[in-house]
Amino acid sequence: MVDTESISITRTAKSRLSKTDFDNLSFGQVFTDHMFMADYRDGQWKNLRIVPYGNIQISPATPALHYGQSIFEGMKAYRAEDGGALVFRAADNLKRMNISAERMCMPALPEDIFMDALSTLVDLDREWIPEQEGSSLYIRPFMFSADEFIGIRPSLDFTFMILLSPVGPYYSTPVKVKIETHYTRATEGGTGFAKAGGNYGGAIYPAKLAQDQGFHQLIWTDGKNHEYVEESGTMNLMFVINNTLLTPALSDSILAGITRQSVLDLARHWGMHVEERKISVIELVAALKQGRVQEAFGAGTAATIAHIELVGYENEKFMLPPVESRTFSNRVLNELENIKRGKIQPPFDWIYKI
Ligand SMILES: *Cc1c(COP(=O)(O)O)cnc(C)c1O
Repeated sequence: MVDTESISITRTAKSRLSKTDFDNLSFGQVFTDHMFMADYRDGQWKNLRIVPYGNIQISPATPALHYGQSIFEGMKAYRAEDGGALVFRAADNLKRMNISAERMCMPALPEDIFMDALSTLVDLDREWIPEQEGSSLYIRPFMFSADEFIGIRPSLDFTFMILLSPVGPYYSTPVKVKIETHYTRATEGGTGFAKAGGNYGGAIYPAKLAQDQGFHQLIWTDGKNHEYVEESGTMNLMFVINNTLLTPALSDSILAGITRQSVLDLARHWGMHVEERKISVIELVAALKQGRVQEAFGAGTAATIAHIELVGYENEKFMLPPVESRTFSNRVLNELENIKRGKIQPPFDWIYKI
């Protein structure tokens, strides 16, 4: 292994910490005092640095702006009762970022650089980790092409950064979702399995149409025939039917969520019957009509578990059982929250302590 360059640190002259209202945090609008940056030049990650949070200079010709050559990750740090900072399954986020990088023709980031950057930055801004119930420090690593060139070709130069953002609860109420049968998020052979910027840019318009109809989010279906359900917004989709935990099998149009995997791991650990397979719209709508769907939820880092209270399909709307009756999703949500906050020991090696 090449020895990692050490990280240079430039501290902010004036912290914004005392001016931040931690009791009224919405998602992704407040950033901590510092951010991490590294440059990929001549085939190597260089100039590892932590600098005060602020605007950055890029060339207007950067391919990230023109062609969407950018990828990101999302993870969270929690404050433990002893004041330590706990990060959930961080190495899995790096693995996934490197899978996204390969698909987008970008360089991998070595694990030692990633973990060193993460620990140093979170440690420096650890006072920013909220203590409030339901709050945490959202961590946003991202990478973009930084060539000064507006031709389309594999880029040579890249920038990797990490931002930190204290956040409150993502959804305050159970969500209403609509099965989308016209627009497509991702398709076979596409980039749906990668956290690539363009996947999200293209999803905003169809999601807005659904929001105008009173839904919070879409249930995306496959891009070929809109025959199978895939994900809900930027969350993986899960159901409990006949006491079985059911979720769409991973494919190249589904993002392999770390929350999804954690829910499956816990369910199996508890001896629950789990199925990862294709779930057709016909099967789901029939189960909804017959009242056989016991629980439905989205799983993702931002919300952890987002209970689904209503599913719209064509001109019909199906209400789901009250959230209080949902044994599995409430149990798994509590368990995950307690694990992430260090209140209980997970049955797996999931916690990285800083
Ligand atoms: C990030 C993301 C998820 C959830 O992944 P987690 O690792 O659980 O946060 C699910 N679907 C999409 C499309 C995503 O971008």
